[in-house]
Amino acid sequence: MDEQDKFDVIIIGGGPAGLSAALYSARDRYSTLILEKNGLPGGQIMLTERVENYPGFESISGPDLVQRMRLQAEKFGAKILANSPVNAIFGRDDGTIEVQINDGEQAFCARSVILAPGSDYRQLGVPGEAEMRQATKVSYCATCDGAFYRDRHIMTVGGGNTAVEDTIYLATRFARKITMIHRREEFRAQQVLVDELQKHVSAGKIDLKTPYNLERIVPTPDGAEIHHVEIRHAQTGAVESVKVEGVFLFVGMVPNTGFLRGQVEMNEAGYIACDPATLRTSLRGVFVAGDCRQQAAMQLTTACGDGVVAAMMTKEYFRNPDFWLRPSAKVISQGW
Ligand SMILES: Cc1cc2nc3c(=O)[nH]c(=O)nc-3n(C[C@H](O)[C@H](O)[C@H](O)COP(=O)(O)OP(=O)(O)OC[C@H]3O[C@@H](n4cnc5c(N)ncnc54)[C@H](O)[C@@H]3O)c2cc1C
Repeated sequence: MDEQDKFDVIIIGGGPAGLSAALYSARDRYSTLILEKNGLPGGQIMLTERVENYPGFESISGPDLVQRMRLQAEKFGAKILANSPVNAIFGRDDGTIEVQINDGEQAFCARSVILAPGSDYRQLGVPGEAEMRQATKVSYCATCDGAFYRDRHIMTVGGGNTAVEDTIYLATRFARKITMIHRREEFRAQQVLVDELQKHVSAGKIDLKTPYNLERIVPTPDGAEIHHVEIRHAQTGAVESVKVEGVFLFVGMVPNTGFLRGQVEMNEAGYIACDPATLRTSLRGVFVAGDCRQQAAMQLTTACGDGVVAAMMTKEYFRNPDFWLRPSAKVISQGW
């Protein structure tokens, strides 16, 4: 491998977690490479025009925010290689980590790797979903977008804990009315949450319809708003149309970690297992940051925070070869 392909730190994924890790790592003068599968770095937040909960910015578009993060990381020397999907990583005998891109066409190696490939909201793939997501009328995150639906009538979709919790959250803080649909009669969510949901249904704030599937989201002719949505009864097949101003889909997340299977430990859902204090994974020299890790809060600020922790722990790993074997309480008990 050529010297130019060797780095102190390689970061997989150029979203907020990866860019924050790169800022810290490059600013500490470690040679730092971000490998990003898309043509542009930035991650999920590139998909939204309105971010109102990133401290310091009352309102900023996702692309603007990550553009600033990218320039800041590059200013300190981080290199970003776009169109470079990582397909595998391996621990090498000399203690470094090999990272392969483009189905093994090219390889790099690093003393430490930070995994930050994020995760994607599961989509239903119904007609109108992608178009209305673009128009910011379909959302997958109540914390991110709830405030945009004050006094509006919205639809929520799903039956798990997140769907029930976030429907209650939207009903009690923002929406005038919610129509909630779920494809089964029974919920996967905990009974205590379902009981609470029922209270809001009885109070008339939430109209709960089961078993229904979302059939399609119909835009207004100019494509700027939702005209109505169509839902289909799962047993009778009857289609109804409902007038709503926004749709929240709570149908799960998919971590982008398939390429790491067999290399690092993950939980059943594919989120990368780690020591939450140090973000060490099961593979020596490899850390994890952001939405792809287990127990992530899945927000911009927490993804950035993870990136910072991972970069700082990388530094500690470089300083102390036995870092990997020390219990996390001993690693961080001194503070920084
Ligand atoms: C529409 C929308 C609106 C949101 N609004 C808000 C909001 O208002 N406030 C908030 O706090 N959060 C919001 N979020 C959530 C926030 O965007 C995420 O929590 C955050 O982006 C997670 O950052 P990350 O770096 O962990 O992952 P991501 O942002 O997912 O970035 C991961 C990056 O890794 C790349 N990647 C994946 N696999 C590979 C691979 N194999 N090789 C190389 N690169 C790879 C991806 O292309 C991506 O660029 C929103 C999310 C969406 C989708």
